[in-house]
Amino acid sequence: MALMTAAEYIESLRKLNTRVYLFGEKIDNWVDHPIIRPSINCVAMTYALAQNPEYEEIMTAKSNITGKTINRFTHLHQSSDDLIKKVKMQRLLGQKTASCFQRCVGMDAFNAVYSTTFEIDEKYGTAYHDRFVKFLEMVQEEDLTVDGAMTDPKGDRAKAPHQQDDPDLFLHIVERREDGIVVRGAKAHQTGSINSHWHIIMPTIAMREADGDYAVSFACPSDAEGLYMIYGRQSCDTRKMEEDADIDVGNRKFGGQEALVVFDDVFIPNEYVFMAGEYDFAGMMVERFAGYHRQSYGGCKVGVGDVVIGAAALAAEYNGCEKASAVKEKLIEMTHLNETLYSCGIACSCEGCKTKAGNYQIDLLLANVCKQNITRFPYEIVRLAEDIAGGLMVTMPSQKDFTSDTVVGKNGETVGDICNKYFAGRSDVSTEDRMRVLRFLENVCLGSAAVGYRTESMHGAGSPQAQRIMIGRQGNIEQKKEFAKIIAGIKRS
Ligand code: SF4
Ligand code: FE
Repeated sequence: MALMTAAEYIESLRKLNTRVYLFGEKIDNWVDHPIIRPSINCVAMTYALAQNPEYEEIMTAKSNITGKTINRFTHLHQSSDDLIKKVKMQRLLGQKTASCFQRCVGMDAFNAVYSTTFEIDEKYGTAYHDRFVKFLEMVQEEDLTVDGAMTDPKGDRAKAPHQQDDPDLFLHIVERREDGIVVRGAKAHQTGSINSHWHIIMPTIAMREADGDYAVSFACPSDAEGLYMIYGRQSCDTRKMEEDADIDVGNRKFGGQEALVVFDDVFIPNEYVFMAGEYDFAGMMVERFAGYHRQSYGGCKVGVGDVVIGAAALAAEYNGCEKASAVKEKLIEMTHLNETLYSCGIACSCEGCKTKAGNYQIDLLLANVCKQNITRFPYEIVRLAEDIAGGLMVTMPSQKDFTSDTVVGKNGETVGDICNKYFAGRSDVSTEDRMRVLRFLENVCLGSAAVGYRTESMHGAGSPQAQRIMIGRQGNIEQKKEFAKIIAGIKRS
């Protein structure tokens, strides 16, 4: 099979026996569940756009393993140009979904695990790299979605993995067998885990010798025996379960997804094990995955930002104030911030370099600068969008009120008549359209989509302090001191 269609992808999920819990109950038909389905539609867009000749160049690539055309989400970057196209693809998907389309975590894991396993084998004579290439060939051939899972629950942050009171707070090997390993633990806030066919697990932090059993990387099917997932709540998520509330939902079709993924003694055969105790390489894998995912945000969040800016402009237009200089100024500021983020995503890609394994890696310093800006600018973009939208974004009655037949006025006016009368903007714009754009902004700024735009901008791909540590490490202050000494005529070394 080459490229899957969006419909084939959705059908392929039905064949899995993925165990999903939501609101304390097991959900058997999770594919059609109203809270989960928008997140599936979002991943499906990564398949749909790859089928569209208009986006072929950006959405597909030639596999360096098989020479065949594959979805770029399963590709090992072969050049800086590939890294740039990745960011462009993510911006495009952000524009089409205004949400988190989830499939990037797998792509970023492929590239990080590919290069790290090569270097582990080089040092220890292990066979991880070839195993991984075989696994990736299957992923490319079957056009699978894979969740790249890194973040452990972490328990007491002052303690190393092996020092935790509960040893399962970091995922670890509990048994080493001739034919594989048994693992126990969990990965928290896993983007797109339920919508993925497979998972790739990576360690969450750099480790020391005592944490050897925690230095583990492997792949496993999402419905492996002993694996289950508990769905993460999102603000206003139950609106998706209400009837006649498609406007209130804000982004009716698309959404993100995070879950707690639990490994309750899961057996992993040797062919899918990519690290098992080589603790000195845990840091490398973490750093590389985080770097790729920090680059990713310079694409996806920019695409969502494009939609937010567009919605703010529409809200102003529907209020009749789009020509006001203050509104124009704010839209310019939002655009400036958004394009600055894009510049960071492109810059760390342009400065990419070849790894020992042969795939391309972003410039780590610039990727961390990219993500650090992302922890700030979307907040300012959202603030300006809320400023332009006005308070109605959060005080407006429900869709049911706007369509209600309940008589309320002296002259027989219904609740719907009254809402439509008093919430009208410009007379040539329907109150419904005005409502739609404000509800969309509510959704992306404060509602269920805020997890994918606002808060994910802060914590996704690592919280701000994680980037500052990397910036500190990569910033080369010593070299900068030398520059200053030469210019200032300081001779002492
Ligand atoms: Fe992709 Fe962005 Fe979602 Fe990460 S946050 S999976 S980069 S869309
Ligand atoms: Fe993310």
